[in-house]
Amino acid sequence: MSTRHEAAAAAVAVQAASCQTWAELDAVARRCTACPDLVLSRSTVVIGDAPEDSRLVLVGEAPGAEEDRTGRPFVGRSGRLLDELLAEAGLARDQVAVLNVVKCRPPQNRTPGSAEVANCGGWLDRQLTLLAPELICTLGLSAMQRFLGRRMTLTAARGVVHDHAGTRLVATYHPSAALRFGPRGAPRAALREDLRTVAGLLTAP
Ligand code: SF4
Repeated sequence: MSTRHEAAAAAVAVQAASCQTWAELDAVARRCTACPDLVLSRSTVVIGDAPEDSRLVLVGEAPGAEEDRTGRPFVGRSGRLLDELLAEAGLARDQVAVLNVVKCRPPQNRTPGSAEVANCGGWLDRQLTLLAPELICTLGLSAMQRFLGRRMTLTAARGVVHDHAGTRLVATYHPSAALRFGPRGAPRAALREDLRTVAGLLTAP
């Protein structure tokens, strides 16, 4: 990463660290212009859903078209499947925080670049500090690698309870993979199984 990119990420981290509440972070992050390509491709900054007292945080990759249009994460087809599988696991979507690694829609839904992930990392880290969840569950490769490193594969990461700065972390597939491989595909079965594991790891409210 270039010095310019490192400076952009550091500036976001400083801004984010100064936010004392979710509302403050929401207001400041909405004006973020750290990623030039994403500023051009986004309609809005999708901050994420953060119900009060969320014990679980789901982290996906980036907003898609429907998320960019509505300003909310996981509301398209992937979001509907996620809601369905959460409910099957006994988890209500409105009690779960849902965030993305980057908060602005990439052009043509491309994978976010490493500089963009680094830039947005300051917002994500601060969100996790403010939420202080019991458990983080990453959805898909990008989100998993953001926490566990780019050499980690999803196959190796699944089925293990990892530690992220003192918080337990579980990695699973992105619902878009579960849609792509169909209802009988392995990713859907894995996502269903992993969300059940996540539900079992949460302490009783
Ligand atoms: S993706 Fe994150 S860091 Fe980049 S412009 Fe959007 S809010 Fe800022």
